Amino acid sequence: MVNGPGVRASLFLAGCSHGCKGCHNKGSWNPRAGHHFSDALQEQMVKDLQDEEIGLQGLSLSGGDPLHKANRKGVSALLEALKQEVRRKYDVWLWTGYNPDSLLSLARVDESVYSILRNVDTIVPSPFVEELKVKHPLYGSSNQDVYKVDWVETAEEAICRLHPEKGVGVVEATYPRKK
Ligand code: SF4
Repeated sequence: MVNGPGVRASLFLAGCSHGCKGCHNKGSWNPRAGHHFSDALQEQMVKDLQDEEIGLQGLSLSGGDPLHKANRKGVSALLEALKQEVRRKYDVWLWTGYNPDSLLSLARVDESVYSILRNVDTIVPSPFVEELKVKHPLYGSSNQDVYKVDWVETAEEAICRLHPEKGVGVVEATYPRKK
């Protein structure tokens, strides 16, 4: 599989509780696996995303699950920091084992997940289902899809719409507008 379009920075986050049968990456289930994401690494990521010569198109977050409980606050803070610091256009893709409905529900009760959703452009959600295995560059089973994340603001509400590449089943949720 590839991690999105163009040349990208990729961050693989340890921690996943979905337990998909046939998971290709069981080593990433333990949230204590891997290396600590240090301030120095974040600074390097900012530099790389700024650098016109490297020409990164964006950042890809996968794992494991970037939305595992142990990762939410850190990922939310990272995306906010990048938004403040990187002064050039880039996009953010995120892979998660939560399906679109549960992801939007989670954003109601978890401030970090809401913030992450505000700062990603594309998500590839849902657990891997071994019986539905497919050969696709961006996901592993046919229940999965690529969704563009679109926000519409009204005076009182913020509406998040997830538009599937396969064209059927736009998923949306409405949240109170943050002041
Ligand atoms: S969501 Fe991904 S990493 Fe987690 S168990 Fe499923 S396939 Fe493995």
